[in-house]
Amino acid sequence: MTAEDTNIKIAVRVRPFNGREMERSAQRIITMDGPTTIITNPKDGAERKFTFDYRYEFASDPLYLSHLSLNLIQQRVFQDLGEAVVENAWKGINASILAYGQTGSGKSYSMFGYGLNKGLIPMIADRMFTSMAEAKDPGVELQLTFSMLEIYNEKVYDLLNPAAGDALRVRNTTNTAFYVEGLKPFPVTTYQEIESLVDRGTRNRTVASTKMNASSSRSHTILILQFIQISKVGRTEKRSIINLVDLAGSERVNSAGTEGERLKEGVNINSSLSVLGQVIAALVQKQNGKKGLVVPYRDSTLTKLLANALGGNSRTIMIAALSPADINYEETLGTLRFVDRAK
Ligand code: ADP
Repeated sequence: MTAEDTNIKIAVRVRPFNGREMERSAQRIITMDGPTTIITNPKDGAERKFTFDYRYEFASDPLYLSHLSLNLIQQRVFQDLGEAVVENAWKGINASILAYGQTGSGKSYSMFGYGLNKGLIPMIADRMFTSMAEAKDPGVELQLTFSMLEIYNEKVYDLLNPAAGDALRVRNTTNTAFYVEGLKPFPVTTYQEIESLVDRGTRNRTVASTKMNASSSRSHTILILQFIQISKVGRTEKRSIINLVDLAGSERVNSAGTEGERLKEGVNINSSLSVLGQVIAALVQKQNGKKGLVVPYRDSTLTKLLANALGGNSRTIMIAALSPADINYEETLGTLRFVDRAK
């Protein structure tokens, strides 16, 4: 099966070395050669090769770190992965984009961006509004709503309405359709509105994690755009959903040195990411013609919330965020293996 006829696409992205890695004179163990991503085991030099749909490297050229070139790469990521999501939303096709990887590997950088180097979320929101402004059919009313949620220890919190405080309940309408009870999506009409809601959600996320004595990397963040096209004549509707997900850090917890809340968090993250892996693997098998498979959406809060835009007539993009450094070999290999199951 080629990338063109699957609904799940995988992108791998290596970030530049960070300060800690440079201080420790870390060696580079990820190389990209055409469609192939190669990881070298620092102990014995053994190589493992993976092939994915999209690859983003950082160049060793110091110029690479200029704002201009950083910005160009962010734009390329958007052109490859984000543009089609907006086009599909107009056709009523749902999409989920998920960033996976250990803490510090570049998930938030890919999804939110940093400063002027905007990531996928602002660029998709911006393109959505540009395309709505260009729409010319006066017979169709366009509506866009925005929500921002957090899943921490399997519980769902509305980041735009923290006054609600308590976790929201996830209910189901059918075996594979779920909704968050009491969630209030915000109608949005300009890009600036989304920008300030994202800021608000991000601040609330930090406040909430401080209160719960957790790091914000220990929760999954989901931003949801819902696009509705209402035909004024027939009162018919075309709906689509875009889920943009910054997953909790995938690093394994070492149960020996961890206890209490930290252990519970780690166990919950590991189990929800492993259910996500199982759901995606099941969807791939279904796509390859396997019959009678049950997709285990029910087994985690994350997969329940994403069920509406994962599988079926949806497009899914997984971004594997990687550190280039030997000191992160085990986690980086784990990330490559995880997304490799989604092929
Ligand atoms: P995560 O969300 O996975 O914990 P971040 O996105 O916060 O990681 O990235 C960690 C640091 O690395 C941040 O300072 C970020 O700006 C930087 N960074 C990550 N990815 C890239 C990239 N592709 N290019 C340049 N800098 C990056």
